[in-house]
Amino acid sequence: MDGKSELIARALSLAGSDLLIGGEWGPAASGKVGAVLNPANEAVLTEVAVGAERDGQAALDAAASSAAAWAATAPRERAEILRRAFEAIMARTEDFAALITLEMGKPLADALGEVRYGAEFFRWYGEEAVRAFGRTAITPEGNLDVITVRRPVGPCLLITPWNFPLAMATRKIGPALAAGCTCVLKPASLTPLSSLAVGRVLVEAGVPAGVVNVVPAESSAAVSGPILADPRLRKLSFTGSTPVGQGLLAEAAPGVLRTSMELGGCAPFIVFADADLDAAVAAAVVAKTRSNGEACNAANTFYVHESLVTDFSVRLAERFAALTVGDGLNPGVDLGPLVSAGQRRDVDSLVAAAIAAGAEVLTGGAPVDGPGFFYQPTVLGSVPKDAAILTTEIFGPVAPVTSFETVDEVLARANSVDVGLAGYIYTRDIKLVQRCARELEVGMLAVNTGPISNAAAPFGGIKRSGLGREGGPEGFEEYLDTIYVGLPR
Ligand code: NAD
Repeated sequence: MDGKSELIARALSLAGSDLLIGGEWGPAASGKVGAVLNPANEAVLTEVAVGAERDGQAALDAAASSAAAWAATAPRERAEILRRAFEAIMARTEDFAALITLEMGKPLADALGEVRYGAEFFRWYGEEAVRAFGRTAITPEGNLDVITVRRPVGPCLLITPWNFPLAMATRKIGPALAAGCTCVLKPASLTPLSSLAVGRVLVEAGVPAGVVNVVPAESSAAVSGPILADPRLRKLSFTGSTPVGQGLLAEAAPGVLRTSMELGGCAPFIVFADADLDAAVAAAVVAKTRSNGEACNAANTFYVHESLVTDFSVRLAERFAALTVGDGLNPGVDLGPLVSAGQRRDVDSLVAAAIAAGAEVLTGGAPVDGPGFFYQPTVLGSVPKDAAILTTEIFGPVAPVTSFETVDEVLARANSVDVGLAGYIYTRDIKLVQRCARELEVGMLAVNTGPISNAAAPFGGIKRSGLGREGGPEGFEEYLDTIYVGLPR
């Protein structure tokens, strides 16, 4: 076997092909399996068990019956398990990264970044596990001591998307376990492998049977629906698209479940007149192409001041044209395939509509022929203000550039969408930064930089980008209830 085949074999062995329920690895109750495709060549990578309603119920049974014992575990013990899981992932970063690349398509270097980012949620929340602090106070009347006690919320359903198949799982499991919650993880149907590998690491790190259950499914709703209707479930944490999130919120309403919803975005990348153009172009490339452009916080729409727009567009197009597209496991590849044929079709329709509306193709603009769901790195210039591509989540390596004249105008245009996840601004004017922090309708603002995701920082959106935060102390709160104890003085 050559080096690449060995890497593939090692990566696939991390995941196995079984469901994890109640500490046991096994087939789906129906015996059904589903194929996982490699988006770089459309070949079947492997087959995994796909659960349905019965498997989901068995997983919830396991999560519910292990909940009290896990909640009673010493915080230090939970912390040590998470720490061991962090170490185990870090010891095999390349294998985990290859697994991400194989099932999702992002280049290996990018996937290595996801592994480090994702593993950090186990270390960070392991450290946080021993810090579930409450507070004390005295009522203003002086008659009661007010004491708050923190308790784990209880069994959680965690549903993750395909674009960060490892990090979206660890970003939920880390704080859940640290807080003392048990969980059922339902990974995206396209990318179940990284989640199964995370399940294996946790079992090896000593997580007790039933505390973490992993149930890939062909039909997500068949697994999640009955779990959401079960009164033993106490929380739903979902990352995915806004329409699916809206449906799940409705399903969570009868049980009045705690919900954390990390939904879609449409991030503006605003280059103001006084920006450092070199830095802005460099950051634009990263903010647009990371994870093949399939990131919820990817820069979606480039608003560039009219005095800089020609220069910016030309330079961005040069940088995009120089990107190497190919199988993410091959050396030197900057951009891998999109995750599926459907995803590529959606991206191409948005591009075609923008061109029909008058946008100018500065580079790219079409799918790449051949096996694999590749799309040319694309920069569109002079995009008309009303083109749908400016206000729709693109989820591909396509950068539409539009110009603006005034600050009022660009803030109004950027805020005209019904989502508000991330925003990027380039300016040297601190007053303008402060104004954007007040007025740009986003949950996360990157100032003169591209990447800002971090385990220590609260990731999340406003408007239809979601509810709650992941990362930082805020992400821990999502899995804790606050119980008030009143004691007469
Ligand atoms: P998706 O909404 O199609 O799927 C997300 C998850 O929900 C998957 O596990 C899927 O199998 C499951 N699902 C789909 N339909 C369901 C249903 N009816 N009932 C229960 N589960 C169902 O999203 P996707 O295409 O996997 O991911 C891309 C989307 O995720 C983008 O909109 C992106 O912005 C968003 N996203 C958001 C964040 C964030 O932190 N805000 C992070 C990553 C991705």
